[in-house]
Amino acid sequence: MLRWVDVLKYARYSNPEPPRRLVLTEAEWAAQLTPAQLAVLRQRGTEPPYRNTYCRTYEPGRYVCAGCGSVLFEAATKYHAISGWPSFTQPAAKNALSYHFDDGHNMQRVEVRCNVCAGHLGHVFPDGPAPAGLRYCINSVSLHRLSPDDPVESH
Ligand SMILES: [Zn+2]
Repeated sequence: MLRWVDVLKYARYSNPEPPRRLVLTEAEWAAQLTPAQLAVLRQRGTEPPYRNTYCRTYEPGRYVCAGCGSVLFEAATKYHAISGWPSFTQPAAKNALSYHFDDGHNMQRVEVRCNVCAGHLGHVFPDGPAPAGLRYCINSVSLHRLSPDDPVESH
């Protein structure tokens, strides 16, 4: 289980080694993502709160990266955080995400990216529920939910 001290250590020193890496040019990303996915995953944008696909859904399964198909979060760790975006307490694996300090918007936050394709997902905050106390606040458009029977197809 990751805690805030682990998140800070990753952001400050070095991120966990990903299971694989997917590196595409910006032109290749533009050819395979929708404009909304591109704006978030590759240009670090933020989708509108509440009016997004997974904000209020709690179906079982898992959430994979909309860029590369890597498993990022288990649906069982999704919880209602009243933030307007899908919120999770833990990543699917310790090395599923990478962590980066983000000083934009006059805030010091920790940005989370897919560790395989480096796509921007959202941020993580130390105000989540016990026991780990983490809140991963993630853009719906950077995720795709698979139902429990769907195979994971990464690309
Ligand atoms: Zn990815």
